[in-house]
Amino acid sequence: MEKDLEKMPELFGSMVFNEETMKEELSEASFTAWKECVTEGKTLDLATANEIAEAMKQWAVSKGATHFTHWFQPMTGATAEKHDSFIRPTGGGKIIMEFSGKELVKGEPDASSFPSGGLRSTFEARGYTAWDPTSFAFVKEDSLYIPTIFCSYSGEALDKKMPLLRSMEVVSNSAVRILRLFGDTETKRVTAQVGPEQEYFLVDKKLYNQREDLRLAGRTLFGAKPPRGQEMEDHYFGMIKPRVSAFMEDLDRELWKVGVLSKTKHNEVAPAQHEMAPIYSDANTACDHNQLAMELMKKVADRHGFVCLIHEKPYEYVNGSGKHDNWSLSTDSGENLFKPGKTPSKNARFLLFLAAFVKGVDEYQDFLRATVASAGNDHRLGAQEAPPAVMSIFLGDDLTAVVDALINDDKSYHDSKKKTLEIGVDVLPEIRQDNTDRNRTSPMAFTGNKFEFRMLGSSQSISGPNIVLNTMMADELDQFADELEKADDFKKALSSLIKRVFTEHKRIIFNGNGYTDEWIEEAEKRGLANLKSSAEALPAYVSEKNEALMIRHGIYTKEEMDARGAVHMENYAAVLNIEGRTMVDMSKKQILPAVSAYAAKVAKRAELKKGAGASASYESTLVKDLGDLTDKLADKTSALEKTLDSAPEGDKEAMFYFHDSVLPAMAEVREYADQLEVLTDKEAWPFPTYSDLLFSER
Ligand code: ADP
Ligand code: MG
Repeated sequence: MEKDLEKMPELFGSMVFNEETMKEELSEASFTAWKECVTEGKTLDLATANEIAEAMKQWAVSKGATHFTHWFQPMTGATAEKHDSFIRPTGGGKIIMEFSGKELVKGEPDASSFPSGGLRSTFEARGYTAWDPTSFAFVKEDSLYIPTIFCSYSGEALDKKMPLLRSMEVVSNSAVRILRLFGDTETKRVTAQVGPEQEYFLVDKKLYNQREDLRLAGRTLFGAKPPRGQEMEDHYFGMIKPRVSAFMEDLDRELWKVGVLSKTKHNEVAPAQHEMAPIYSDANTACDHNQLAMELMKKVADRHGFVCLIHEKPYEYVNGSGKHDNWSLSTDSGENLFKPGKTPSKNARFLLFLAAFVKGVDEYQDFLRATVASAGNDHRLGAQEAPPAVMSIFLGDDLTAVVDALINDDKSYHDSKKKTLEIGVDVLPEIRQDNTDRNRTSPMAFTGNKFEFRMLGSSQSISGPNIVLNTMMADELDQFADELEKADDFKKALSSLIKRVFTEHKRIIFNGNGYTDEWIEEAEKRGLANLKSSAEALPAYVSEKNEALMIRHGIYTKEEMDARGAVHMENYAAVLNIEGRTMVDMSKKQILPAVSAYAAKVAKRAELKKGAGASASYESTLVKDLGDLTDKLADKTSALEKTLDSAPEGDKEAMFYFHDSVLPAMAEVREYADQLEVLTDKEAWPFPTYSDLLFSER
């Protein structure tokens, strides 16, 4: 490992066409043009694009690339690519390696096979991709990858990058507006910073291949509770097994090469569960890098005889996998706006940004919840070690005491000085970072200088949640700026605004244990939304209030929002349809025949025993139980199949139908199958069990 650390600076970003490389490879004029495009949003002319393309190609070829691809993020939440080679025939059987500015800046993949929520139906079934110069190109597996946005010819966003970039722009503008009120004349840009922590499971490839459910649905649809689960708590931060360790080293190296700042590796709570956290970066890069990380995890796992499961709930009975989205805002001089400062004015600024966040999360709790809704995440939220489906903010005791003192004009608060905490006049008392167990149960925890949004599912793109965080923040800051810009006495207006906002929105602040039933009751009393499933949450995605927020800030048009809502609902139904069909298939073709054959063997043995004068009560009872359960399983399997066959059309109807009718039918099939697993000889059971899968890492 020591040797690795020495090589690290050389290795890191070695496959990335980053700023340093651009500085070396481009003329000064082109470099400046790129830089201004990135920092000030100026457009690039074709001549400059040509020069950048040429330099990019030469650099990529020197790294072994023969192809290039526009790399984009369609609404599926995954990434897509279409590779073209640099090769151009020049006649006489010769070729040259060529890549033009036009090819760099704009590509035309056929958009017809990506979900568009009906957006494309009115347009030509094609879209185009356009270079995102704010995210660096990189070389991976012989191809130059060019991060791009993806939109239709009439400009509708068909991807997850374009709206994210728009949301970063609006939150920057609104935050700068607020900074001006505090006398900051320097800051030009405020950037949303994100550090996503990624959880995943590893499973032995040989075992994985024997499970149709893992292969087709990414999660186990059957499996009795294993004798050992995560109760030993010895896995968390425990010793990493050699084969896993080799995988992690390899993964880090691959991530570093493409510029992902992978920092930590440790075991998670469940057996065979792990986490990778990168060092945070701007939200756009973080999103690209998280997509890359998920892809590389799967590829590298394969090299080590593992399969990497990124599903939110691969296994019942143990923790699921999430993604913690650490989010903050920082100025172009690197100041974190969520860091309590050392001066009264910095603190007033901090409290104002905090108030905007608190108000935003309260007003858009249902929207934030909807951005993490998926069939997979439904199994996780509210279950083992995952936040409940109710949104709340954890501020910790110190900061909550400050907020309470402000709300109540609490004269006793600052007891050392015996005076009220006055915004803009006093410094805040020290705010200690609160990392208690209560903190870990919160869906949105303030962790000293950032918020940690913990409801995200492990497999989802982080784009959606960050789009909403950025945009709601922009909206609240704009409202504040409107009010404060008009005020005669800024300090007074500021104080009363902060006090009013905390008073009106304190219901969203909760520092207790989020896992308890008492909290769910209390939350209901407070009027907080408890959207337990995707079916309940997704309609919020397209509610009038939430659509209005996005439209107001130019993030999406109404059509784009509706399209996105439709894609999510459609996806929910599609996932459950695959799961249901896979269950039917496994039950009919694997479980029932295997158990039946096993029961026949036992029945034969019973006959032999009886012939020898023994009672054969063990075998007889077993045969009867297996017989009863297989009959029930066969019934429930047919019922599930019929339920699947009668699914309605229409995104919303189908979503509710799958939630209300298909899920319960699936649960019944599983119940009988799992009972059979417990009674059946391990050798006879048709696929690896939970014990095999969860403890297969060594
Ligand atoms: P914890 O262990 O409490 O979750 P870490 O220090 O490990 O906290 O950070 C978790 C993630 O948060 C990392 O990806 C880290 O880079 C990121 N992070 C740290 N500070 C910030 C910040 N100001 N804004 C956004 N993300 C941050
Ligand atoms: Mg965390």
